[in-house]
Amino acid sequence: MSLKSYKSKRDFAKTGEPMGKEDKGHEKGRGPVFTVHKHQARRLHYDLRIEIGGVLKSWAVPKGPSMKPGDKRLAVMVEDHPYDYKDFEGTIPEGEYGAGTVMIWDEGNYALSEGGAEEAIERGSLKLVLNGTKLKGGFALVRTRMGGKDENWLLIKEKDSYADTAADILETKPNSARTGRTMEQIREETARGTTNHHE
Ligand code: MN
Repeated sequence: MSLKSYKSKRDFAKTGEPMGKEDKGHEKGRGPVFTVHKHQARRLHYDLRIEIGGVLKSWAVPKGPSMKPGDKRLAVMVEDHPYDYKDFEGTIPEGEYGAGTVMIWDEGNYALSEGGAEEAIERGSLKLVLNGTKLKGGFALVRTRMGGKDENWLLIKEKDSYADTAADILETKPNSARTGRTMEQIREETARGTTNHHE
């Protein structure tokens, strides 16, 4: 049910993105995960994905996350993605939905400092504690009524010992958290076929 929109946008004969199973949920012995994809589509953006209820709740963040507590980064809620999407790094072929290069820019576990996840989504306010390779500590993800659109949220770093008002983490740590590759390397190594699978 929840992945209907995800599946309807994609042709799995052409894209290497995972089809995903409903409610697959997280792996045993592993806490709930989050991923930030760096996605060079028509425009470069970042996609924040948080495992909630067996799927990855997803937000497109045009300017990407920031470690600066003053920065409010627009995060537009998009369709739920399958849990397996956390492992996708590759190239979506030309002509397909979201065509372009996708990097696992950051990944790790998260916790909520208050309340349950489903209820927090409903309420429009998540207090996240991220333990990623790059993003760490408290982040607020709050729904706004900006532009009258329900799907507009803001991603804001909380003031804590991980906050960094000097460096831009997108520039200081541009490469894949999973493979260390640059966008260029991912594109070159995965654009040959139509998928990221090795034949
Ligand atoms: Mn995207």
